[in-house]
Amino acid sequence: MSHPLHYRHGELCLDDTRLADLVHAHGTPTYVYSGRYLQERYQAFAHALGPNTLLCYAVKANSNLHLLGLLARLGAGFDIVSGGELERVLRAGGDPRRIVFSGVGKSRAEIRRALEVGIFCLNVESAAELERVSAIAQELGVQAPVALRVNPDVDPGTHPYIATGLQESKFGIPIAEAETLYAQSWPHVQFIGIAAHIGSQLLDLAPIGEAARRLRSLYERLQAHGLPLRHLDLGGGVGIRYHNETPPTPADYAATLEEALASLPAQRVVELGRALVGNAGVLLTRVEYRKSNGSKEFCVVDAAMNDLLRPSLYGAWHDILPLQEPRAAGTPMDVVGPVCESGDFFARNRLLQAEAGDLLAILGAGAYGFAMSSQYNSRPRAAEVLVLGQENRLIRRRETLADLWAAEEDL
Ligand SMILES: *Cc1c(COP(=O)(O)O)cnc(C)c1O
Repeated sequence: MSHPLHYRHGELCLDDTRLADLVHAHGTPTYVYSGRYLQERYQAFAHALGPNTLLCYAVKANSNLHLLGLLARLGAGFDIVSGGELERVLRAGGDPRRIVFSGVGKSRAEIRRALEVGIFCLNVESAAELERVSAIAQELGVQAPVALRVNPDVDPGTHPYIATGLQESKFGIPIAEAETLYAQSWPHVQFIGIAAHIGSQLLDLAPIGEAARRLRSLYERLQAHGLPLRHLDLGGGVGIRYHNETPPTPADYAATLEEALASLPAQRVVELGRALVGNAGVLLTRVEYRKSNGSKEFCVVDAAMNDLLRPSLYGAWHDILPLQEPRAAGTPMDVVGPVCESGDFFARNRLLQAEAGDLLAILGAGAYGFAMSSQYNSRPRAAEVLVLGQENRLIRRRETLADLWAAEEDL
């Protein structure tokens, strides 16, 4: 499973495709994904986890229809957090019986549609939501398949915005309260599992193992009381390398789950987003200007925080490589976009060689990149291209200016 990026004859390539050729064809800013790498990551996790695990792709990481279709053809399940994601998965050919639906704020319409199409499981996050699900199932004359998403109260040691399994977080139900709900009689609900998701970009597997043990012990208590549960959903959150991290391998991750859950007769579900698609993607951008303010050097590029929010939102690091292989280490500069916010940056004091007109690739942009993009500052959203073998295909056209105001006219 080799990383998709390398220099060949001094030019940066993604697998066999010269990225400069894609800029020529599609302009900048443009997201480019390696379909080969995404497939290999999926298969590596599927193989390590084995046939007793439903490997769901967390759609919110990157919801492009063509990537969803590619994963659906490999047999992936899907973890969704909205009715919009549900429809995307269905349009892409995903199997509703392999969908789990997470999220704290599911609307009536979203729950109804999920039950109508027959999804695998609703991960319910509160007593109030359980009542809503039960009422809608009664109206439809069905039994809703439900796992309660519990809050295992473990610290995943990640950025506070993406830590979701701590007691003070808005997500999940405290284990003691979940136990009470499971013990009650809900005639229109079929409890089929227990779910949790403790956070994202986890580099240490110990908290995942600890959460799995807490879920296991709850599972065993409920089974002892005669509740016929079938699966444990351990969520997602496996981290990737953005800079110099050492992320868990698929084998490490599978071994951690195996150690916690060995011999438990339950199906397993995991919900991986970033670990599958994060390093499959880059964002291509062109340098518009160089400038210096006194002692500080700036490289102003044509992508911005509206295209890739992670540096602004989390202070996240993304490696940046010039499309022409550099001949020297370069000088420290801030790589910034055109948006009118000081938080609009991709890198600070980064050693780079970059002049106006040069092309750059921002790495690790496959997950929470395009998916979090907006039209802020009235900037049309970027194009997306999928590279697969010798072929490369536009999988989302660049938005036009007319797209900016299409929903505001002809009312
Ligand atoms: C975001 C999310 C995931 C995926 O997280 P990654 O870090 O991308 O693996 C999985 N499950 C739930 C409930 C989520 O909210």
